Amino acid sequence: MIAFGPIPSRRLGQSLGINNIPPKTCSYSCVYCQIGRTNKMQASRSKFYDPKDIFLETKLKINDMNAKGEKADYITFVADGEPTLDINLGAEIEFLKQFDIKIAVITNASLLWMDDVKRDLMKADWVSIKVDAVDFDAWYKVDRPHGNLDIERIKKGSLDFAQCYKGVLVTETMLASGINDNKECLDGIGMHLAKIKPAKAYILVPTRPPAESNVKRPSTSKLKEAFNSIRTMVDVEVECITEDEGESFFFADDIINDLLSILSVHPVREEVIDKLLNKRKINKKVIDDLVKKGLIKEFIYENRKFYRKNQEK
Ligand code: SF4
Repeated sequence: MIAFGPIPSRRLGQSLGINNIPPKTCSYSCVYCQIGRTNKMQASRSKFYDPKDIFLETKLKINDMNAKGEKADYITFVADGEPTLDINLGAEIEFLKQFDIKIAVITNASLLWMDDVKRDLMKADWVSIKVDAVDFDAWYKVDRPHGNLDIERIKKGSLDFAQCYKGVLVTETMLASGINDNKECLDGIGMHLAKIKPAKAYILVPTRPPAESNVKRPSTSKLKEAFNSIRTMVDVEVECITEDEGESFFFADDIINDLLSILSVHPVREEVIDKLLNKRKINKKVIDDLVKKGLIKEFIYENRKFYRKNQEK
């Protein structure tokens, strides 16, 4: 399913997700990625789905939500990969604007040096760009980029975009312990954010099972240090997100397909799924069956069980 949710988002309220990219196609293979390692590394844009199909799927989803008295605060391009790899992103945003719901795009910014990517993102109301590191070594270790990408071009592209963009621009920096949370890295990130001047700079830590099991969140003291160091350099609001989002996922009648769509971009904790199934009086056996069929996988992270879609299926 291309349209999924809405799912609760700390930053966007109830966010109706658009997954405009085939499973795990990305220009990065971040060590902390919550949907696993990248199967298909790609750094050039391609056609994936027909923009009209994306529009029609979204329309069905919105009709379904309306019938149940639900509403979305944003329609968000949040793919199980990098949404700007889609050459039709601009056309899709134009189509989806007809629903009169704000459009958000969460991008890793790796293609922001391309003029057509900048043009497409200009059409969105809210854009989040990734700034995990600004020096080659840390960037290479944390984001594991496609070999054709160049961090200097990405930094320049991000700045150029920030200067022309009229919507709400925010940044997100995911910190992984021992990889990009040292002083040198944080100073570099702070200096870059000071030039970008986002409406808000978010600092995140891995709250769901990461692609590499040895990736850990920084300690609380390290996180405080990071927060203070970035805040002193940047004249904008800085916020740390260290907990998982809420539990108010929307499910239509076809709960299995809805669940699979959500789990392909967003691992969900066992207790959240249990509550949802109880509410609908559905036996948990449906989840066990999905695990047995290999469609979803179980992961333990920070002593909690999560489910995530098996991207190989
Ligand atoms: S976190 Fe985002 S940018 Fe990084 S590998 Fe996953 S989908 Fe790609």
